[in-house]
Order: sequence, then structure tokens, then C-alpha cells
Amino acid sequence: PNLEPAAVLDLDIDQITGILEETTNKGDSALEKALFSHADAVTQRFFGDAVYYRGIVEFSNVCVNDCGYCGIRKHMGGVKRYTIPIDEVVEVAKWAFENRMGTLMLQSGELPTPQRLAYLKELVARVHQETLELDMTQRGLDPKAPPPADAGELGLRVALSVGELPEEHYQELYDAGARRYLLRIESSNPELYAALHPDAMSWQRRVDCLNSLKKIGYMVGTGVMVGLPGQTLRDLAGDIRFFKEMNANMIGMGPYITEAGTPVADMWESMFGHVDKKAHMKAMFDLTTRMNSLARIVVGSANISATTALQAIEPNGREIALRRGCNVLMPILTPTKYREHYQLYEGKPCITDTAEECRKCLNARVSMIGKRLRQGAWGDPPNFLAPV
Ligand code: SAM
Repeated sequence: PNLEPAAVLDLDIDQITGILEETTNKGDSALEKALFSHADAVTQRFFGDAVYYRGIVEFSNVCVNDCGYCGIRKHMGGVKRYTIPIDEVVEVAKWAFENRMGTLMLQSGELPTPQRLAYLKELVARVHQETLELDMTQRGLDPKAPPPADAGELGLRVALSVGELPEEHYQELYDAGARRYLLRIESSNPELYAALHPDAMSWQRRVDCLNSLKKIGYMVGTGVMVGLPGQTLRDLAGDIRFFKEMNANMIGMGPYITEAGTPVADMWESMFGHVDKKAHMKAMFDLTTRMNSLARIVVGSANISATTALQAIEPNGREIALRRGCNVLMPILTPTKYREHYQLYEGKPCITDTAEECRKCLNARVSMIGKRLRQGAWGDPPNFLAPV
């Protein structure tokens, strides 16, 4: 192997599985320490101590899909469905710009209708244009004039996470101003994917969507859940290879957390119902951070996010992850009154917080671990800007 400091290592599936087995099943803490420290060194090599923000607005929980694990799946009873009016989301976007978030991620359940497409196009175009104009005005430039060629990053980067759509819709949203798209593959193993999703959903279609997004020119993010019932360490190793092979520009991995009343929570109960749940979830937290480290070491210069689900298990979870390969934080900016209706899993944190509280809390957390928030920066990943 290449033993240079902070080398990106093109580990194969057997090597990755081996590392996961040694650290997870055999408790090799020396290997785990080396894994975390090498991942941090690779992160430092590409990003220094910089941490980037992606403010996220969960603008609608309406969904046509029935993903077996998800608390806002179509057939989940007792969920009050909402879609935030465009004006209200644009106000959040302006707040995000003023509070130097750099990127706004618009996330929702899946709704492939012409009305939703029209909503999204207008929303993307307005967030893009109105934050650009705000930025121009603040720099003393004419907001209605074309931006000067040397102006650099203006306004907010607009990212979408709204699921599977036809390629033409992805193109129309790109044309409206979206530049990033997050679509988790959920598991790179098609059989495991099939066990967790209804027959109407297809793993191959998800892969096709990721390929369409790449072809159009989006920065493409993907990811998986860790600790799904039936998932093996070799499946997880396959997930890392999947990220590498598609050259993911962003990776988001979180522990799977049960949500009562969903089919996958029932599967989980029948497999793990007898174990100490708290200890099990802590083990899944640790495994997720090992996965973050492996992703950093194998994929190199992608953005990797310290996900909210990590914090659901461990109050300092996101800070720990930022020292184990992650370099991105996603403060939740969804207006407080909607948050309780976007409950993907039990114990989702920050449900009663305001965007201001989330921002202040994360600012404090990052400075505590000796990293530096690059507020206002877009943070496009090196593996998109200069593909290797
Ligand atoms: N509908 C869009 C999509 O499919 O990409 C985005 C919204 S979806 C709710 C966002 C992510 O939530 C999913 O990709 C999934 O990984 C995660 N998620 C859903 N239920 C979860 C659970 N019980 N535990 C952890 N993560 C979960």
C-alpha cells in the first residue's frame, strides 16, 4: 500500500471488509485509532481545518413512496402533511444567506407531479436570483446588472434532495439554478435495497438517476444508512466502493434509527429486540464514524457530512464525526412549526429549535473541536472542481 502521509488508499472490498471486521467484531482499538487519525489527516490535506455549512430546509413531507424505514412514508398514519409556501422558503433562504450558510439544501418527500416541478423551478430560480441580488447589493454592485466575471461566489449554492425524477426534470431544475443534488442509494446491495423498499421501487432506477444527475453536470451526493436489519459488514464495504466508483462529490451516512409503525422497525425488533438498544445504537454510531473514515480514506476529496442522525444517538455525535473524516455540517433551517411533521425516525434532534438556535449551537460546537467554520463559502469539493 501507499504509505505516504495522508495518502488516499484505493482499498478493495476485501480490505475494507477486513478493517470493518477487525475494528467492529474483534475490537482492535489500535487499528481503529489509526483509521480515525489517517482519515483526519486526509481531511486536513484537502480541506485544512475548514468545515462548511449546508443549511437544510425540509420544505414538504408529502411523499408517494413507501420506503420501509421512513417516518414520512406514504402510508405512515398520523402524519400531518405540509408543503411550505414558496415565499416562506425564500425568506428562510435570505436568512441563510445573511447568516452565511453558503449552501441551501432543499429537501422533501417525493412528488413527481407537474405542479411540484413548477413549484421547484420557481423556488430554485428565486433562491438563486434573490440571494445573488442581495450579495451584489451588499458589495455595492448594481443587482440587476450581469455579475462581473471576477465576482467569485455570489449568493447561495442551491442543492436539492427531492428524490427520483425523470432526467428532463433534473435538467430543468439545473437550468433554474440548482447545482447540487443529494440522492442516497440507501444501500449499494440491490438485494438489501429490495428487502427495505416496496416492489414498485427499483435500485437500478436510483442508480440511473445518479448517472443522469452526473451527466447533466450536478455535483452529486449519495449515501447509505448504517445498521439496517440484514446489512453485513461486506455490504458496507461495498457501499464505500460504490461511492468511489461513482466519484461521489458528497457523501452522507447516518445510522439507521427505528421509527415505530414502519415495516423495517418491525424487522429490526425481530432481529435485535432482545439486545440492549442503547448499547446497540452506540455501536452503530461508532460503526458509522468508521464508515465516514473509510469513505474519506478511499474516496479522498469528496465532501462528507456529519449527519443529524449521528446526533440523535450521541449528543456530541457531529463533532466527533468532524474529527473522523467529515467536513460538512447541515444545520436544520426548517421553520420550527413544521419540524415535528418531518420526523423521519425516533428522537430526531432539534425538533423544537429555531434556525437561529441551530446556527449558534453549531458555531459553538465547531470552535470547541479546533476546526474553523468557513462561513459563507460554497465549499465545492475538489473532486468535482478537478476530477482525478
Ligand atoms: N425523498 C428524498 C430521497 O429519497 O432522496 C429525500 C428525503 S428522505 C426522507 C432523506 C433521507 O432520510 C433518506 O435518504 C434516508 O436515508 C433517511 N432516512 C429515512 N428514514 C430514516 C431512518 N429511519 N433512519 C435514518 N435515516 C432515515
